[in-house]
Formats: sequence, structure tokens, C-alpha cells
Amino acid sequence: MKVKSAEIVISAVKKAQYPEGDLPEIALAGRSNVGKSSFINKMLNRKNLARTSSKPGKTQTLNFYLINEEFYFVDVPGYGYAKVSKKEREKWGQMIETYFTERPQLKCVVSIVDVRHKPTADDIMMYDFLKYYKIPTIIIATKADKVPKGKWQKHLKIVKDTLNIEKGDHLILFSSETGQGKEEAWNVISQYVYG
Ligand code: GDP
Repeated sequence: MKVKSAEIVISAVKKAQYPEGDLPEIALAGRSNVGKSSFINKMLNRKNLARTSSKPGKTQTLNFYLINEEFYFVDVPGYGYAKVSKKEREKWGQMIETYFTERPQLKCVVSIVDVRHKPTADDIMMYDFLKYYKIPTIIIATKADKVPKGKWQKHLKIVKDTLNIEKGDHLILFSSETGQGKEEAWNVISQYVYG
């Protein structure tokens, strides 16, 4: 994928604010601090388009990035941050559920996990939710550069088995540091954008 242009068009909190038109959308989800912003920036060849390490507790929005004027990346606010109030968490849940279940433009969700660790209960909940609604999913196991090469397969197997990844879903080893997995990720994402 040659990224010719990438710009944020809207930070939406409600359905009425989603962009008009029928361009395909690829959503990106992951727990806070997992490396989601770094993934987006790496994929789009930008240093700081998606804000890295954004402070939890700030306004939770769905950020729509228009890419090549052809499709959107939709950045979903991170989950699993312990200090978020119950009320905030409920608001997050409602916003995500509405977007994931009532948005025909959504073609697939890129679910980002940390390859160093066994997926958390929240990671499992997210994946199960996506499968319940039959939303195609690409699992990105990021921070590969932090695991020795000889242990990659072992870690990937733990991710695969813990999430119980369904046939048809992709699991891609990635690093925002080295760019490993970038081409594979674009190949798979392109299938959903153009397929
Ligand atoms: P977000 O909260 O999910 O958007 O996470 P960020 O993208 O802000 O990343 C959280 C921290 O992990 C930052 O300090 C990043 O520099 C670091 N990080 C993210 N991806 C990678 C990666 O692939 N390799 C390494 N070594 N660090 C990463």
C-alpha cells in the first residue's frame, strides 16, 4: 500500500458525527498502551498522526483517518485502563457497541495485542465480542522487537490459543520499531478494503 495521504477528518462521540458516504472502514482496537497509536503511525508513515501514549481519562472519541481518499482507519479508544470510572467505561462500551454493530462501512477490526504477554481478560472479551457479531478480525501481535526471535513462535501460539482465534482470522507479528509485519498487515487490510 502506498500511503499518499492520511488526515484526521473527525473525532466522533456519536453516530450522527460519523463521516457520510460509503467508503470502507478498518477499525483499530486494543488495550491502553498496547502500541495502537504506534501501529497506526507506522502503517501511515507518520511520526505523530495518532497520538502516542495519550492520557487515559481524556475525552473518548472514535478518530476517523481518511487514507488516500479511499478508506478510513477508525481509531477506537483503548480499553483496560484500571483508573477509568464505571460511568466512563459504560459510555465507552455503548459507543463501541453502536459503532461495531450499526456501521455497514466497517469491514474488519484490527485487534492489537502485546506479543510479550498472554492476552488479558479484556483482550479476550474484545475478540469474543467481535466473533459474536461476526466481524472479521486481524490480530496484530506487536512489540515483536522486545521478544527474541527464537521465542516468537512460542509467543504467537500463546496468543492464538488464549484468544482461540477462529479460522479465517489473521494473526500477524508486528513491530512499530522495526516495521516488521507492515507489508503483511497492509496485504491483509487491502483485502478487506478492496475485496
Ligand atoms: P497506545 O496507548 O496503544 O496508543 O500505545 P502507544 O502507541 O502510545 O505505545 C505505548 C508505548 O509502547 C510507547 O512508549 C511506545 O513507544 C511503545 N511501543 C509501541 N509499539 C512498540 C513496538 O513495536 N516496539 C517497542 N519496542 N515499543 C513499542
